[in-house]
Amino acid sequence: LSVWSAVPAGPPDPILGVTEAFKADKDPRKINLGVGAYRDENGKPYVLPSVQKAEELVNSSKPDKEYLPITGLGEFTQRAALLAYGADSVPLNQKAISVTQSISGTGALRIGGAFLARHYPNSKVIYLPTPTWGNHIPLFQDSGLEVRGYRYFDKSTVGLDFEGLKADLLAAPEGAVVLLHACAHNPTGIDPTPEQWATISDIVKERKLFPFFDMAYQGFASGSTDRDAHAVRLFVKEGHQVAVAQSFAKNMGLYGERVGAFSLTTSSPEEKARVDSQLKIIIRPMYSNPPCHGARIANAILGNEALYTQWTGEVKGMADRIISMREKLYNTLTHDLKTPGEWGHIKSQIGMFSFTGLTAPQTKVLAEKAHIYMTSNGRISMAGLNGSNVEYFAESVNAAVI
Ligand code: PMP
Repeated sequence: LSVWSAVPAGPPDPILGVTEAFKADKDPRKINLGVGAYRDENGKPYVLPSVQKAEELVNSSKPDKEYLPITGLGEFTQRAALLAYGADSVPLNQKAISVTQSISGTGALRIGGAFLARHYPNSKVIYLPTPTWGNHIPLFQDSGLEVRGYRYFDKSTVGLDFEGLKADLLAAPEGAVVLLHACAHNPTGIDPTPEQWATISDIVKERKLFPFFDMAYQGFASGSTDRDAHAVRLFVKEGHQVAVAQSFAKNMGLYGERVGAFSLTTSSPEEKARVDSQLKIIIRPMYSNPPCHGARIANAILGNEALYTQWTGEVKGMADRIISMREKLYNTLTHDLKTPGEWGHIKSQIGMFSFTGLTAPQTKVLAEKAHIYMTSNGRISMAGLNGSNVEYFAESVNAAVI
């Protein structure tokens, strides 16, 4: 008898399972709207030209393959913090931000979860928006925190349930941790307005909650990395201490290179040094130290004025292509096909995803009849649409809802 004979089979990953079904489909019209990776106008993966140049720069310097420090490439993490917090950030200028490189955004969240579980003195409860990126739930549970939800999405308006959000955060126990998507909320594509962010900041203050920002899409929402950092910078300005998980998977297209950063604001360089020491103690037995190649690429972009300018233009190009697909899809459904229902949310939603309102049975029909794949909650990755398939997609949705 094998020692593993009692291991039960687990369910497949709900998002990566969509890609498997897509790959098995042989129809030439097939479309994958499941995974959140950017695709260009031809439906192909996109390596940013600024990333290609940065990689050439890195390679031409013939870097060695020595280990990085436990907290990663120092130049890169300083520049990542600058990108998130902005040049006029008080804790940044006081050298009071503790920051470490991470295995992309997921790794940043996991380091944060582990740090809070071990050192946050007030509460081991973390509030996540309902719905949220599916991986948040097991990630924070596995970090040793108790996961609860706060209302976020209003089905009836396909918009933000702001009353529910406020009520749930006001009712949270004092000192609880609250996870906030800094921009381009996944999966709903719905972000609070600046006024709503100010109100959320007030409630977080009143309830003494600890804000943990997941910033996986900086630049992807509006096309501007500064505008997309509004919520993080507002909270810091308002005097909150924050934690921030950053990913360079989407905004630099460095998905498989696994480049990210985790940071915490502290009250002094001396306190920062103590926090740094504990981050190292958490990271060392997890993976010892992070990989160097992707961090060198991101560092070359963030540290070179010409490349940085080129990169921000390319981020805007990705965001703009997605926004143009939202308009095209909305217009085709509403004006050309006169599809029943209200589709304004397709245009008003933000970032990589749209929560279409399609039901699980409708998504099944779309897969079986039209070879169009998405998660069963009706979320589509807008980046999977392009000039060659958006009309076919709209016609298929029209057929599925009438
Ligand atoms: N947070 C959110 C909200 C995400 O959507 C994702 C990616 N799907 C991540 C974090 C982490 O992605 P990665 O580890 O690839 O940076």
